[in-house]
Amino acid sequence: MELETKISDVGRVTPYYQTRLEKLGIDTVRDLIFHFPHRYEDFSNIIPISEVGLDENVCVKGKIADIKNYRTKVKKMMITEAEIKDASGSIRAIWFNQLFLTRSLNPGDLICLTGKTTIKGNYLYLSSPVYEKIGPRELIHTGRLVPVYPATEGISSRWLRFMLRSILTQLKNKIPETLPQEIIKKEGFIQIEKALWQIHFPDSIEAAQKARQRFSFEELFILELYAIRERTKLRKEKARPIPFDLPATQKFVSSLPFKLTNAQRKVSWQILKNMEKATPMSRLLQGDVGSGKTVVAAIAALNAARTGSQIAFMAPTEILAKQHFDKICEMLKNFKISIGLLTSKQGKLFLPDWKEAVDVPHKEILKKIQNNEISFLIGTHALIQTGVKFKNLGLAILDEQHRFGTQQRAKLCQSSGSWPHLLSMTATPIPRSLALTVYGDLDLSIIDEMPQGRKKIITKVVPDKNREQTYSFIREEIKKGRQVFVICPRIEKTDQLLENKSERALSWAEVKTVKEEYKKLSEKIFPDLKIAMLHGRIKPEKKDAVMADFKDKKYDILVSTSVVEVGIDIPNASVMMIEGAERFGLAQLHQFRGRVGRSQHQSYCFLFTSSPLKGIVKRLGILSKCENGFELAEQDLKLRGPGDFLGKRQSGIPDLAMSALSDIKLIEKTRNAAQKILDKDQNLKKHPLLKKRVERFSEKIHLE
Ligand code: ADP
Ligand code: MG
Repeated sequence: MELETKISDVGRVTPYYQTRLEKLGIDTVRDLIFHFPHRYEDFSNIIPISEVGLDENVCVKGKIADIKNYRTKVKKMMITEAEIKDASGSIRAIWFNQLFLTRSLNPGDLICLTGKTTIKGNYLYLSSPVYEKIGPRELIHTGRLVPVYPATEGISSRWLRFMLRSILTQLKNKIPETLPQEIIKKEGFIQIEKALWQIHFPDSIEAAQKARQRFSFEELFILELYAIRERTKLRKEKARPIPFDLPATQKFVSSLPFKLTNAQRKVSWQILKNMEKATPMSRLLQGDVGSGKTVVAAIAALNAARTGSQIAFMAPTEILAKQHFDKICEMLKNFKISIGLLTSKQGKLFLPDWKEAVDVPHKEILKKIQNNEISFLIGTHALIQTGVKFKNLGLAILDEQHRFGTQQRAKLCQSSGSWPHLLSMTATPIPRSLALTVYGDLDLSIIDEMPQGRKKIITKVVPDKNREQTYSFIREEIKKGRQVFVICPRIEKTDQLLENKSERALSWAEVKTVKEEYKKLSEKIFPDLKIAMLHGRIKPEKKDAVMADFKDKKYDILVSTSVVEVGIDIPNASVMMIEGAERFGLAQLHQFRGRVGRSQHQSYCFLFTSSPLKGIVKRLGILSKCENGFELAEQDLKLRGPGDFLGKRQSGIPDLAMSALSDIKLIEKTRNAAQKILDKDQNLKKHPLLKKRVERFSEKIHLE
């Protein structure tokens, strides 16, 4: 057995286990031994049976005096009962529906048991204890600190412990050290093989923590090596400099119906200065919802267009792409720039001197892009999917960049011969620690100021009993001419969900759905009002039509899933009501809230939760006190970990690195260590193992 041995080739890994392990991202033996426990149960204290008390969690050791199966008379349950003796006394143990136990456990066997004691009749019982036969091998389930692994359907901690002991034993002296020895010495880390044993089967809590520290460092260190190398690679690319066109920019700014905020000016300046360089810009523009990022993008685009470069602007949804197209055509109409729209469903063109945009076939857009007859192309994923070839791409802009993967980002940048400047925009503020690591290849610009005159959005966590009151309030707002969003976590209750009886599925089944709420609101609560619904399974044309109609005030209420999360601009909406608010992260709720409060009207955000948990109500309460997206993001990071920012499952970032990502000191330390190595050995020639790890990491990583 080697580290790279496929997990499917390991004994006892049946296809059943293989598919479940794959779901955890475990393909090789290495992946499995790096699947760490999230906590330990302390059963290290084995006590004499005579000292066992009632209702206690205990660990005892003794000989099986007797073991048998029988059926209870009353409820007809199958019971296995054993009597265990040690020098001090005896105790009974019972298990339910585990008749197979009598096949492996026999009178005379020495076993170790952990579990809770109860009393029945005159006897003290251990009820369904964890058992382990004592033999030549080290105990792993009882009588020690026992590792507990994150719950996964179909894979028990017991099975994992069994596999890990066997694999680690077979890998003796075969696990090469990945960290450079000088780092191990400097940090006082334990060597890799010992650390692996100690993280899975620790001698003490301190030893487990020490092992964990080492691996946290290691994972972050790999991540840093990756980020720094990506950055260096990009620095070597050549891009066409885009000189800052001051007169055109001034003309543009003075043509706007508002004054730019200082923050907008500052970031525009950073971007324009950056684009003047002959190395590609790679910049992340962060700004809260409604802070006015689009106009900054337009300024960058205008400057690029003036030099004859093409611009690609990619948005995550049809609705957003269309909205950007309309806005940008309006903003740039006096600047003689040909602008195109390309989504999987739509092609539109707006040429200089035209009064309005017209529909054109995809083919024509593609041809005009290739001939540089369109200089500014706005669209969805269609920009990287439908064979778009830019003649001369000078600037690539990504809106809501967290919706795209690194591969998609790269694809957009590669859709032309030369390397474009890249401007990524996001309203999901990325905490500084993450920005330094995962997005370490990007420079940062931050809009930390809102346009003037915006009112604070009144935010409240509403208990279910005040629902009627909220509906009356909504009615009043609509009477005043305002509009209302209602967000639900799901579209509908699927059969699958109702059949799947797992606890998680059941709790999801209670969640409000768009379809039910739509029906309830339009039939029972507000039969006289105009209500529409929106979700991801509605066809894009229909979606656009609904959005457009809502914008034109043809509806009073829009019931929707999170598809309205990003970017949509409906200034007349004043109420955002969120059902099942506990299902969303704070940063995402803040995004929803940003859909209202975009005009002079006082706006409101109501958070409904059916969860009685105090912690959840408290977490949601943070939102009513805090209106700063950055602070909320930091809170999310603390409360829920970085998963929300990176898309935990898909990101490919190991769990340990994920949790270490909130440790800014460790990040800085690993960053310095990575830089030091790369300064001396840029291609990691002297560290082939590290190099392999970094390469594997870059294959697996996929940032949301
Ligand atoms: P986001 O940063 O969320 O993408 P947008 O670019 O959509 O925000 O801008 C939100 C709204 O604010 C738009 O209607 C836009 O025209 C307006 N806006 C942008 N900048 C300013 C400003 N400096 N003053 C007033 N309104 C502005
Ligand atoms: Mg936006």
